[in-house]
Amino acid sequence: MRAASSLLRTALRPVSRGYATSTLGFGREVEGFVGAVGNTPLIRLNKLSEETGCNILAKAEFMSPGGSIKDRAALYLVKDAEEKGQIRPGGTVVEGTAGNTGIGLAHVCRSKGYKCVIYMPDTQSQEKIDLLRMLGADVRPVPAVAFDNPQNYNHQAARYAASLENAVWTNQFDNQANRNAHILTTGPEIWEQTDGGKLDAFICATGTGGTLAGVTRYLTEKSDGRVQGWLADPPGSVLFNLVETGKAAREGNGSITEGIGQGRVTNNLAPDLSLLTGALHVPDSKSIEMVYRLLDEEGLYVGASSALNVWAAAELGRKLGKGKTIVTILCDGAYRYQARLFSRVWLESKGLVQYIPERLQKQYIV
Ligand code: PMP
Repeated sequence: MRAASSLLRTALRPVSRGYATSTLGFGREVEGFVGAVGNTPLIRLNKLSEETGCNILAKAEFMSPGGSIKDRAALYLVKDAEEKGQIRPGGTVVEGTAGNTGIGLAHVCRSKGYKCVIYMPDTQSQEKIDLLRMLGADVRPVPAVAFDNPQNYNHQAARYAASLENAVWTNQFDNQANRNAHILTTGPEIWEQTDGGKLDAFICATGTGGTLAGVTRYLTEKSDGRVQGWLADPPGSVLFNLVETGKAAREGNGSITEGIGQGRVTNNLAPDLSLLTGALHVPDSKSIEMVYRLLDEEGLYVGASSALNVWAAAELGRKLGKGKTIVTILCDGAYRYQARLFSRVWLESKGLVQYIPERLQKQYIV
């Protein structure tokens, strides 16, 4: 009896830091899948914060109902098509995607009664393909060729949508409804969760650029330019050099990270590129080590793009100096990649196993 009432007193007491209270994200009931998107927790990464002397905070997008940051874009892309009259009940949503946007779209389409067709490069993980099929999407893996090739998955998606009645190609790379999702939701949530903008910088990697552009735009305007926006970029992308030197040139070869890295400036990134303060290049050796560290030190089971973001946030903290607050994104969970990220054979084939400390190799690699 006594234990129960003291528990109740503790639960009713407001807390400023520590366990989440019921005021953020757990308000009234929400309307279906789409109502559950967003309002994700902002997690303080304790070990890395201690190590850097900064506050390293990461937004837990793996907790979104479709499992990734791309639920937000999927929702706003479909909303945009509905508002423009491009799709009516019973219609078809067609997209080219490395996976997570497709998964978000497949959820949104299921919940709203649309058909969903996904073109994706055939280099993506089997877990993502399986999940898309479970959600009723018509998945069409196509050879992974560059954007300027007409057989690129985006162009195939565009052509197929144009051949159907009552269908839309949501065009996540160049449709700014994607970036608007982050101006309207992710940015304001970060502002509110940092006690009215008590942060110094935001950093993340880009695929379409929607997250980085939208959040940077919101935070820059809301803070009158005080909060900095930074790009974190994997090998094989042209954006690091573009931001740092003004010339788009590939830095390094491909990367093990999925869903990020870019060969061009998309319409989602273009209007906000000039707002960025700088860019950090993150080699795969750092991203893979951080996948294991986050699991071991923080109990967070996240994918390689999340790990890349966190490594970059810590590095930016070191660069900007002690006491700074840096926010980044945990884009999705590791479930989508576990057959690769925790496989010795796969890690050896990528030449990465030696970057994972011996103790963690013993504990986690199969
Ligand atoms: N991480 C993962 C795992 C992704 O799938 C994506 C989107 N492709 C991103 C990060 C990047 O998000 P954005 O498209 O908003 O740049």
